[in-house]
Amino acid sequence: MPVLPLLRLNPPTDAARNGSAVLLSTLARLLASGAAASKADLVIATGLARTTVSNAVDQLLAGHLLELDANPPPPVGRGRPAERLRLSPGGGHVLVADLGAHGAHLAVVDLGQRLLAHTHVDCEIADGPDPVLDVVEASLRKLRARLPGPARAMVIGVPGPVDTRQGMPVRPPIMPGWHAYPVSGRLRREFECPVMLENDVNLRALGEARSLPADQAPLLFVKVGTGIGGGLITRAGELHHGADGSAGDIGHIRVRGGPDIRCVCGNVGCIEAVASASAIAGRLPAQPATIADVRALAAHGDPVAVRLVREAAELIGEVVATLVHFYNPARVTIGGSLTAASDELLAGIRAVVYERALPLATRNLVLTTSTLGEYAGLAGATVLGIERALSPSRIKRTLT
Ligand SMILES: [Zn+2]
Repeated sequence: MPVLPLLRLNPPTDAARNGSAVLLSTLARLLASGAAASKADLVIATGLARTTVSNAVDQLLAGHLLELDANPPPPVGRGRPAERLRLSPGGGHVLVADLGAHGAHLAVVDLGQRLLAHTHVDCEIADGPDPVLDVVEASLRKLRARLPGPARAMVIGVPGPVDTRQGMPVRPPIMPGWHAYPVSGRLRREFECPVMLENDVNLRALGEARSLPADQAPLLFVKVGTGIGGGLITRAGELHHGADGSAGDIGHIRVRGGPDIRCVCGNVGCIEAVASASAIAGRLPAQPATIADVRALAAHGDPVAVRLVREAAELIGEVVATLVHFYNPARVTIGGSLTAASDELLAGIRAVVYERALPLATRNLVLTTSTLGEYAGLAGATVLGIERALSPSRIKRTLT
């Protein structure tokens, strides 16, 4: 089972909702994120009156969303130990699916961030939505079969552009058959809970940002794998979708000076077509070659593979330097399996960014690899799912 750090949950921004739902949501998220563990902590964290906090906590306890921790850690110092609160396992859980090109991480997480079940299944995203979602649904049904409580929310990430409002992929280049397929609608009927469809790199960006201190945002996540994608996290720690959800989709930015290769999107010279791990695989002398071959050769210091990775890093570095100027992130995270196999990619991108970007943009910039690795997507989906289940608009339904 993957081990995820405790993830920060943001307070609700849904200020238009009625006050009591916002209060319940705020307190539940503070407890679910580990930022508070008792009524006293909640009073300090919110600045609200003791009786206000106390009444709301009683409501959450009565609704079985919270419970008293039966095995609290030993008290520090003298005095009566405070009653420790935690999210109740009976309060339900969140279903998580992180789909890549060739496989999916599936997990069930409770509202207190405890990972209850996890599996990885092989499935080809290019087979189309029906066979892939059949596998996702069957595996998740099996994972949650013996778990208490209902599903409160589901989050699914896919490797392509997504209309998050409609819950549908939009002309995803490596996902034939998925355009306008009602992914969220189908899963909502299956699991009878709200479903959020997201781009996979957006989920990684969110997971990474919420596992780090708040001062590491704004954060730009760049994934170099089969394709190249990006995800943007605002200074407040929220996903930046843009007007239509395509913000951060950087794979089809055109680069000069690269090889003249046609991209899956139909254009020529996209960064994804010339510098992704699959582009590097296509340029290895021994063909056919896969991304796994690139990883293995680069890890062993094969001179041709290392040269190709360095060339790709230079092109990616140009794009990242431009984005650093535009967005002034506190942190740029380079993800994808190639970064684990070889230091060349990160080193090459770093060299170009620090050379090209101006001092104010790079003075405090942290440019590094992902701390969560292949589980960053699960982490981001966990954040979105729990925040949804504990949102002002949903929390009263979660009380029983
Ligand atoms: Zn393209």
